[in-house]
Amino acid sequence: MAETSFDVIVIGAGPAGYPCAIRAAQNKLKVACIDEWKNYDGSYAFGGTCLNAGCIPSKALLESSELYHRAQVEFAAHGIRAAGVEIDVATMQKRKAHIVKTSTQGITGLFKSAGVTALQGHGRLLAGHKVEYTAADGTKQELTAKHVVLASGSSPMELKSVPFDGKTVVDSWGALEFTEVPKRLGVIGAGVIGLELGSVWRRLGAEVVVLEAMEQFLFIADQQVAKEALKHFKKQGLDIRLGAKVSGAEHGKGGVTLHYADGAGEKSVTVDKVVVAVGRRPFTTGLLGTDTGIELDERGFIKVDHECRTGATNVWAVGDVVRGPMLAHKGKEEGVVVADLIAGLTAEVNYRTIPSVIYTAPEIAWVGQTEEQVKASGRPYKVGSFPFMASGRARAMEAPAGFAKVIAATDDDEILGVHVIGPMAGELIAEAVLAMEYSASTEDLQRTIHAHPTLSEALHEAALAADKRAIDFPNK
Ligand SMILES: Cc1cc2nc3c(=O)[nH]c(=O)nc-3n(C[C@H](O)[C@H](O)[C@H](O)COP(=O)(O)OP(=O)(O)OC[C@H]3O[C@@H](n4cnc5c(N)ncnc54)[C@H](O)[C@@H]3O)c2cc1C
Repeated sequence: MAETSFDVIVIGAGPAGYPCAIRAAQNKLKVACIDEWKNYDGSYAFGGTCLNAGCIPSKALLESSELYHRAQVEFAAHGIRAAGVEIDVATMQKRKAHIVKTSTQGITGLFKSAGVTALQGHGRLLAGHKVEYTAADGTKQELTAKHVVLASGSSPMELKSVPFDGKTVVDSWGALEFTEVPKRLGVIGAGVIGLELGSVWRRLGAEVVVLEAMEQFLFIADQQVAKEALKHFKKQGLDIRLGAKVSGAEHGKGGVTLHYADGAGEKSVTVDKVVVAVGRRPFTTGLLGTDTGIELDERGFIKVDHECRTGATNVWAVGDVVRGPMLAHKGKEEGVVVADLIAGLTAEVNYRTIPSVIYTAPEIAWVGQTEEQVKASGRPYKVGSFPFMASGRARAMEAPAGFAKVIAATDDDEILGVHVIGPMAGELIAEAVLAMEYSASTEDLQRTIHAHPTLSEALHEAALAADKRAIDFPNK
């Protein structure tokens, strides 16, 4: 590499780092992006957790397994006879691997067309916003930059009592790589990742037990939504055990026995594979040299202000390695905003309108506050909801489960939160995000024309229902 001096060096090319590098280059800055991600076969790949081991491969498998499931349980209702439907796990995995590879190669292409210097290897921040770059062959070089952006992401948390062994006890990445459907699968953690992965293997035929330490199911979601979700997941055969604190694992000939305690005492369950999905922690191993001025908080996140500035001059940090929800789109927005701020432009992240999506069936999505949060805030509010059972499009799709719910302030009609559980919830929530971004009221949503018959009418009707003016469902 001839060039050693840059305007911006980004360490990490996940969904926070690579958009930052591209936007900085669009802003006419000289940019390098360093990434050390290696796949199981030892090959380097850009895209970080999201593209290689997270969002994209999980959605590929969710899609395949959902189609398989629907062919078995839903086609008959359409009059389609699909006897003898089989799953070929090798082909399913090959398709997933192809999607991942083309996506990660796409980033190499994007870097090239934007003029970003793409470096594969390790990056370490040194004092005075310098960076030590260690290439794949071990050669080291000191690079200088006017600004450095740290986007080193996160890694899965391990349970001391059930350590990963890469074969029987795996993390979320391992659970995306199974070559056959386990007969009995144990999932520790009923969070977003645990539920998505549990759903994949359940739909493909595994007996799935989900052990969750908390008594409350999906505490991050609106509790009306969580209750509805639990009902559907149980119906699908996910054996979700709440308040179940895992204390250890015993490996034997018959599988792995997980020991746990719940309100009723000590219990155990024996499974063939275990996925530990108890959360992720910020990843900063080997990232920081001495005297960089970067501070970590008590949980290991890099400390930043509201504009993602660290305590060190001209050093920024974005994505999973800083506070806030560990979501790809949150990191992307932070990365782009930081690239604009570096270029002297005006930009900010609106943390109030970051959507969350759980890609189960039914899908779950929300933006803004839950009803519990609004209630706790003391602000008077109104709620409107509309069931997909009353949506012509949802019924035509054979997907009548769930509802859309709009929570708004009674004083000025401001939309405070929107929650959807049902078909394409992750797509539907975009309208609510836009509405909240523009500080829309429920009246704005009510007066917006929604095409018929579409799923989006559920959101329209929920907004109308908030003022007891729904047309297609009785107002309560
Ligand atoms: C199974 C699963 C499913 C998920 N599904 C979704 C989803 O549907 N939607 C969603 O929004 N989020 C999802 N997530 C979360 C999402 O993947 C993360 O929020 C996102 O990847 C964070 O982006 P990031 O760029 O901050 O970090 P990462 O994606 O982790 O990328 C960080 C990169 O930096 C590299 N790096 C670290 N340190 C160094 C160093 N010193 N030198 C060089 N390179 C370094 C790493 O190798 C990595 O490539 C999922 C996660 C998992 C595990």
